[in-house]
Amino acid sequence: MSRSSQEIISLFDEYVIPNYTRYPVALVRGEGPYIWDAEGVRYLDFFPGWGCNLFGHCPKPVVEALKKQVERLLHVPNSWHQEEQGVWAKMLSERGFGGKAFFCNSGAEANEAAIKLVRLHSTPKGKYKIITFQDSFHGRTMATATATAQPKYQKGLEPMLPGFVYVPYGDLAAVEAAIDDETAAIMIEPIQGEGGVRVPPPGFLEGLRALCDKNDMLLVFDEVQTGMGRTGKWFAYQYFNVVPDVITLAKALCSGVAAGAMMTTKELAPSLRRGMHASTFGGNSVAAAAGIATIEMIENEGLLEKATVLEQRAKERMNKWATELDFIQEVRGVGAMIGLELKIDGACFVERCMKEKLLINCTHGSVIRLLPAVNTPLDVFDEGLDILEAALKKGA
Ligand SMILES: *Cc1c(COP(=O)(O)O)cnc(C)c1O
Repeated sequence: MSRSSQEIISLFDEYVIPNYTRYPVALVRGEGPYIWDAEGVRYLDFFPGWGCNLFGHCPKPVVEALKKQVERLLHVPNSWHQEEQGVWAKMLSERGFGGKAFFCNSGAEANEAAIKLVRLHSTPKGKYKIITFQDSFHGRTMATATATAQPKYQKGLEPMLPGFVYVPYGDLAAVEAAIDDETAAIMIEPIQGEGGVRVPPPGFLEGLRALCDKNDMLLVFDEVQTGMGRTGKWFAYQYFNVVPDVITLAKALCSGVAAGAMMTTKELAPSLRRGMHASTFGGNSVAAAAGIATIEMIENEGLLEKATVLEQRAKERMNKWATELDFIQEVRGVGAMIGLELKIDGACFVERCMKEKLLINCTHGSVIRLLPAVNTPLDVFDEGLDILEAALKKGA
């Protein structure tokens, strides 16, 4: 494999369906916070794997665990038991609320499983509606695109799945008003990711829990982006005085190996009845080996604390920029999930940083989003922030 970027891009033009907007760069190799293109140019990556690569590129302990696993067992179907999946489920359960896991291959699938669990649990009681939030993001399957309350992801796909009700994020009164006898659940990202790194107002998630308890509804937290140490806790719900009934995980779950999981309480788990849901590849030995190695690496290297150190440094510096640049609206973030909301379009700053070999993201039009590797050394993190600062200070 030694094609030039241009040759690789030509393959895409000819043979790959153009449903993505792709940068005109072909990436070939990564190590920690760095990634190289086909011409050998090195980039500092503050958005590695769209938030999946929790430790940046090719973390050694995960790579070593994978090498051992692929030589022993790649894949056996879920009609058998397999040690790695059992151990992985136990480790996740012990770091969360002590529930049980269903494994799949992506965030959307984890949310599909959650939606099916809600329906299987609630439909017999005549309840099937799920409340979700404006500017949420839950995935691209038909059910999860319906749950995603953003018209731009639904246009042309109609009719969407019945039974979803949308309310503004952070508006407890609107949630209460939306509940009727048929409402089965509330599904929410505890911190909105794609919607612009939105942190809930104080008491909001606690209020949702109370509404669910009062109205016999389930509380589902989509932690696909916030889960697995990204925010400085294992799961973002642990920042709040709330325990959800269901959490879904994917992005950082296996440090970049495709996987998803839905976790629910021991009491609710039987609702996902035998035969009613399945995933051929879900939780296979390779994913499980990566998942176990990810948890071990977080613990062995104290990475929850490191995520919090990155948050503090980012906020300290960005809040200073906010006093100097009048187009900065707000600095937000929890752990290594950082958002800088601008009053202007953010795309030009992404371009400018890329020219200076720093990869960042802009979401929701005007929110600069960083999901850096949680083990990015502080001096390297500062170098990247220097580039971003210079790009911002050139103005719009
Ligand atoms: C990325 C994301 C998803 C979808 O995950 P896929 O693996 O792309 O299906 C769902 N929910 C949230 C909060 C996400 O950030």
